[in-house]
Amino acid sequence: RPAFDVQAIRRDFPILQERVNGRPLVWFDNAATTQKPQSVIDRVSHFYAHENSNIHRAAHELAARATDAYEKARETVRRFIGAGSVDEVIFVRGATEAINLVAKTWGVQNIQEGDEIIVSNLEHHANIVPWQQLAAQKGAKIRVIPVDDTGQVLLDEYQRLLNPRTRLVAVTQVSNALGTVVPVAEIVAMAHRAGARTLVDGAQSVSHMKVDVRALDTDFFVFSGHKIFGPTGIGVVYGKKALLEEMPPWQGGGNMIADVTFERTVFQPPPNKFEAGTGNIADAVGLGAALDYVERIGIERIARYEHDLLEYATHGLIRIPGLRLIGTARDKASVASFVLAGHSTEEVGKALNQEGIAVRSGHHCAQPILRRFGVEATVRPSLAFYNTCEEVDLLVRVVDRLARARR
Ligand code: PMP
Repeated sequence: RPAFDVQAIRRDFPILQERVNGRPLVWFDNAATTQKPQSVIDRVSHFYAHENSNIHRAAHELAARATDAYEKARETVRRFIGAGSVDEVIFVRGATEAINLVAKTWGVQNIQEGDEIIVSNLEHHANIVPWQQLAAQKGAKIRVIPVDDTGQVLLDEYQRLLNPRTRLVAVTQVSNALGTVVPVAEIVAMAHRAGARTLVDGAQSVSHMKVDVRALDTDFFVFSGHKIFGPTGIGVVYGKKALLEEMPPWQGGGNMIADVTFERTVFQPPPNKFEAGTGNIADAVGLGAALDYVERIGIERIARYEHDLLEYATHGLIRIPGLRLIGTARDKASVASFVLAGHSTEEVGKALNQEGIAVRSGHHCAQPILRRFGVEATVRPSLAFYNTCEEVDLLVRVVDRLARARR
């Protein structure tokens, strides 16, 4: 195994030189958002300095540059997630907008009264609320795949939930609250055998493991750029072409039409049909640069390094008196959620911030899964490939000190 030069990688991320409360910043809030390498910052800045224009519509040099940059980013996304065609890659604002798009187009067209939508107990609110709204509108039902005490989904329970009324199975690939890696390929295959469509929420997976949407065979796949070292305000819906062609558009406006009269509109084919108005061109280009960066390092190498780092963090944390790890599935990525007896999660978060360590303390927009474990909040360090064992040591030391302090 070639050595992973984490110090060289850290030099690519200017913000990792920041100091917080007089200490070097330790960024353990990667599940909330990731930091940006200089190449992404430079790419967005280059776009505004040399290429900025609206796309598609105008026939001049900068419009051509902007259009080329935007469409090149779409091709980069296609390659990165293994989609068959760029027509299957739709740019949106993020995973939340992506799921809402599917709910409000495919969902409104295909879900009827009495139909069932299956989600898992692990879902982020973004993969619950849009389906709940759709179910309320249509008179459909939400069914929930339960998890075991480690936080892994129960496939036999899932099998029992599947029935001829199941129209959609929408599951996360990695839990943002516990870090559980969910066996989505199996879940998709089981859904398809039952005649249901699938949506995989990749918000927490794409930056930590190799994703191949064709190997997964999922009908829809969504993710956010900002969680994979790209800009905020950009994300992706992948959908199988045949489905996208059948789906009605969501928002109407410019860019998504072939022809408009006051009587009727002819829409563009996908992906333009789903990209009404001026999109987030610069940040799509920035996302392309982020995926290029990840590809240069290699997602498999990243996954191996992070796996070892998470094991190291887990072993350090579980030795702390009064610390309870929430989420102990065998297959996990990035996240080590915990509570500490006698200390509120806010208190732990504050103590860590005092030492320059950023973690999230709270419900992580995933209240149902925390309540499954009898808690309302956790402290959630979440790792990325620019984190180090020394940073983990510091985290463990600060939490351990707090655990042993007289209250
Ligand atoms: N799904 C999961 C699993 C997430 O972790 C998040 C972000 N925390 C989202 C969806 C929503 O992503 P965004 O806020 O970027 O739209």
